Amino acid sequence: MPKILIPTPLRQFTGKQDAVSVSGTTVGEALNALTTEYPDLRKQIFNDEGRIRSFVNVYLNDEDIRYMGKDATPARDADTISLVPSIAGGSALAEAPPVLSKDEILRYSRHLIIPEVGIDGQQKLKAAKVLLIGAGGLGAPLGLYLSAAGVGTLGLVDFDVVDFTNLQRQVIHSTKDVGRAKLDSAAEKMQAINPHLTIHRHETALSSENALAILKDYDIVVDGTDNFPTRYLVNDACVLLGKPNVYGSIFRFEGQATVFAYEGGPCYRCLYPEPPPPGLVPSCAEGGVLGILPGTIGLIQATETVKLILGIGEPLVGRLLLYDALGMKFRELKLRKNPECPVCGEHRTITRLIDYHQFCGVPRPGAAAPAQETPLNRNEIDVTEVKAMLDRGDEFVLIDVREPHEYRICKIPGAKLIPLGEFPRHVGEFNPEADIVIHCRSGVRSGKACHILRQAGFGKVRNMRGGILAWADKVDTSMPKY
Ligand code: ZN
Repeated sequence: MPKILIPTPLRQFTGKQDAVSVSGTTVGEALNALTTEYPDLRKQIFNDEGRIRSFVNVYLNDEDIRYMGKDATPARDADTISLVPSIAGGSALAEAPPVLSKDEILRYSRHLIIPEVGIDGQQKLKAAKVLLIGAGGLGAPLGLYLSAAGVGTLGLVDFDVVDFTNLQRQVIHSTKDVGRAKLDSAAEKMQAINPHLTIHRHETALSSENALAILKDYDIVVDGTDNFPTRYLVNDACVLLGKPNVYGSIFRFEGQATVFAYEGGPCYRCLYPEPPPPGLVPSCAEGGVLGILPGTIGLIQATETVKLILGIGEPLVGRLLLYDALGMKFRELKLRKNPECPVCGEHRTITRLIDYHQFCGVPRPGAAAPAQETPLNRNEIDVTEVKAMLDRGDEFVLIDVREPHEYRICKIPGAKLIPLGEFPRHVGEFNPEADIVIHCRSGVRSGKACHILRQAGFGKVRNMRGGILAWADKVDTSMPKY
């Protein structure tokens, strides 16, 4: 009996079989036998006149028999007949919606009874492929709700491990997950919510080298990152690939959301052509964030993602939604496409991915510390040496340039608190000959304070390397870290 190979989009009509052996002495008879056995397949392959649909090619072994006539072409027992529907052209066949099982129909019943969703919508959700960049604050609610809603394929990009300081907001991770890869922890929760999902883990830092290859297989990209190089990278890759970029960002009590690069709408670079100078906008690690805030913004992103998949409602395109949790206010700003945008405008200068760390003026994570001395790393001192100086009763001034609310969490005995913002006003109070050591939380702000003093002519100023976090690690392990 000749064998007929069934392509992936048609297997839903053959009980998932990828090959069916049928009787028949010509290709036509074999196809008739196949569609008699699987009647649902008939209208997929043949038109009303019984002719093979124009977007299906039929091969006998390796020969294209379209123009030879299926009825005239003999098929022998050892022959293989292949049905090859066009896929790249977006034919009806390639887009044949996935079938929902009885379990899935029950699971999604509250969707199915909404007319705007229904079976068709749920099938669109199941067919959709969505990539979440980041399994952190925004990725957590996105991952949980998009899984529950039945988005069939979810990709996750992250290379971080779960940390105690994540648990206040990254609700997809539990206390027992601390130390685990975020991808493993998140994928486990998502799969537990919905076993029908396909989850792809991309355990890597998204980079100019891998971004296009990772993004190209998805329909929608959701940006849940926390740094500028990745934001610009995601934006440019989405514009180059023509994928919508569902954007969200958070800081303390405020958030933003919009949909970039969708059907001619503006992109992130239309809004912000260039990143702020390094250090001007603090990250969540430096500036803090209300734990609930990423939930609100992440769910706005999830809502937009589901709307895009279903093709319903007014997408958040050309509008920047601003959320103020303290005032409990939403505002909306009009976003226009910038005709001079370097990546989506009329005279494009960015036609491939660039070096985004260089563009944003920040070092690559994990890159070796700069070999040359910079104004901010000059004259550092180790925490153990500061401890020895304190123990010996050496004459020196120890200054803490953190904020008062940080000082209340933990402090080094004897340190004088002068927040960095007030620091320039106090420069005149110090003796330029004095031995001065400055610290903050991790060493960045104290580096700036050291720079200010050196510019004012102070000669013996040292920055405590690693800040009070290093102190808590190496000197006083009972000290709380934050
Ligand atoms: Zn643009």
